[in-house]
Amino acid sequence: MSRVWNFSAGPAAMPQAVLERAQREMLDWRGSGSSVMEQSHRGKRFIAMAAQAETDLRALMGIPASHAVLFLQGGATQHFAQIPMNLAGPDDRADYVVTGHWGEKAVREAAPYVRVQIAASSGADKFRSLPPREGWTLDPSAAYVHYTPNETIGGVEFPDVPEVGDVPLVADMSSNILSAPIDVARFGVIYAGAQKNIGPSGLVVMIIRRDLLDRPRRPIASVLRYAEQAAHDSMLNTPNTWGWYMAGLTFQWLREQGGLTAMAERNRAKSELLYRAIDQSGGFYTNPVQPLARSRMNVPFWLRDSALDALFLEESEAAGLFALKGHKAVGGMRASLYNAVPLEAVEALVSFMWDFAHRHG
Ligand code: PMP
Repeated sequence: MSRVWNFSAGPAAMPQAVLERAQREMLDWRGSGSSVMEQSHRGKRFIAMAAQAETDLRALMGIPASHAVLFLQGGATQHFAQIPMNLAGPDDRADYVVTGHWGEKAVREAAPYVRVQIAASSGADKFRSLPPREGWTLDPSAAYVHYTPNETIGGVEFPDVPEVGDVPLVADMSSNILSAPIDVARFGVIYAGAQKNIGPSGLVVMIIRRDLLDRPRRPIASVLRYAEQAAHDSMLNTPNTWGWYMAGLTFQWLREQGGLTAMAERNRAKSELLYRAIDQSGGFYTNPVQPLARSRMNVPFWLRDSALDALFLEESEAAGLFALKGHKAVGGMRASLYNAVPLEAVEALVSFMWDFAHRHG
């Protein structure tokens, strides 16, 4: 069986070269006679691999020494709650900027642990735009400001990093981390579930400014405390060894591809191609997101006639275009164009879409 073009929103396509290398190393990793999954995380080989993964990530993103890198578990969802546990006391306030489903969820999960304030929301616009920065009501004494740089379901992405003054900026970068260069120094915390642009699920990569590890907080379990994890190189208990290894292979692959500048260029070309096909379809396909807020990673689109949805999915799958069904909350279609999705996949999708529109328009 040949591989399909995979547009899954997550767990998502991984670079074929990474999968092939993992396959080659599966039975005998680095001459050890066993797989990476069968070895102690305290062993020399694993520790060296883990350190190399961090070195490669630091090089890719230009992570300054002021920031620690953690390899955690629990998915981004767990960290919706764990972030206020670590960064705020129960009487502290935190500002949330909400631009879609995941921002709303972050608010709900944080609410038991911090006094959540909605500093801005594009909910009134059905999350089709970004709330203009001048309208945000930021509290200078907030413990942090949380936002979602890319909303995976709505397909809404911030084109740049918002200016929030001295309050630490916390970003759920689950669906656009590593998609373009960013200035890490501007963030207090960046966190991302791995299963889109990094590797398999079950791993969360967190980049956290070291001074935030020292915040006075409430008593919580040591395994949940970022300072403890940082002090133990994310090995307070057994980490997700397989996920960490796969993430490390992806970081190496990204460096070989020319790093994040090269990725940004590819991601721009892929998303422009698809948005052009939607916009030039004469209304057969639509994407209602404000042009400046359109995501380069997740492109939702709707057919004018939703009665054709099932046929579109059936025929696209038959053409080797996989996982285009939109999220159940919004319906329609969605193509996720993460780093591992090549331009060739988007060209195949666009050509299918033209053909389908031509036959049914
Ligand atoms: N935030 C964003 C932006 C996401 O896209 C997702 C997953 N689709 C999550 C959080 C939740 O991630 P997890 O399943 O790892 O908890």
